[in-house]
Amino acid sequence: MIFACLALCAALAVTVGMCLYALAQTAAGMRRMTVVVDAGHGGIDGGVVGRTTKVKESDLNLAVSRLLKAELEDAGFCVIETRPTAAGLYGAATAGYKRRDMQKRAEIINAASPVAVISVHQNFFSASSRRGAQVFFRADNALSETLACSVQTALNEMPECVVKSEALCGDYYVLNCSDYPAVIVECGFLSNAEDEKLLTSSAYQKRIAQTIAAGTLAFLATGTAASGAVSFDISQRE
Ligand SMILES: [Zn+2]
Repeated sequence: MIFACLALCAALAVTVGMCLYALAQTAAGMRRMTVVVDAGHGGIDGGVVGRTTKVKESDLNLAVSRLLKAELEDAGFCVIETRPTAAGLYGAATAGYKRRDMQKRAEIINAASPVAVISVHQNFFSASSRRGAQVFFRADNALSETLACSVQTALNEMPECVVKSEALCGDYYVLNCSDYPAVIVECGFLSNAEDEKLLTSSAYQKRIAQTIAAGTLAFLATGTAASGAVSFDISQRE
């Protein structure tokens, strides 16, 4: 209980600090920094399905993404969603829809010039014992890795976390389609009963959104992010 309180205090301190950081950036005459929140899948592509409840991954991704957007906006950031509704981004549901859907996400990300891209997903594995949140980064992008480590550290500190993971590199379109710091957050395993119970609870969805936001904000406040984001600062000065 003491550790949970300490973790909560630390998360709150980080969040308050980051709000001040974002506000200071705005006060310094810069446009608000943009974060892209990407709710994975959508429309006819539901992603993976909960083993117990049959919940669609696409619906959980959207729920967590909306909460994450609110958290980041409260912290002073401009947030652009790639998929703000249950619909996919592919237009007509004809051949090649997945490619069109991903290309649309790439367009939105590249037009936004974001300081971070957070793609929200849910995991599934044949062995139902596997559980926990897992963050992926692009191997040849140091800022992507730093962001992933920051978000993974925050997720590992959640009281509900029973399996601490390390951020892993992954070869995914949403990570490779731009050079902005991008990560995929697999919030948990819909193949595991305990994870599925947590992920389908609105209280946990809010807590995990707050935690992803705290990890993202911690990344943006680090010297590494600041030095790598010099070009963002210049481009965003009004
Ligand atoms: Zn997915």
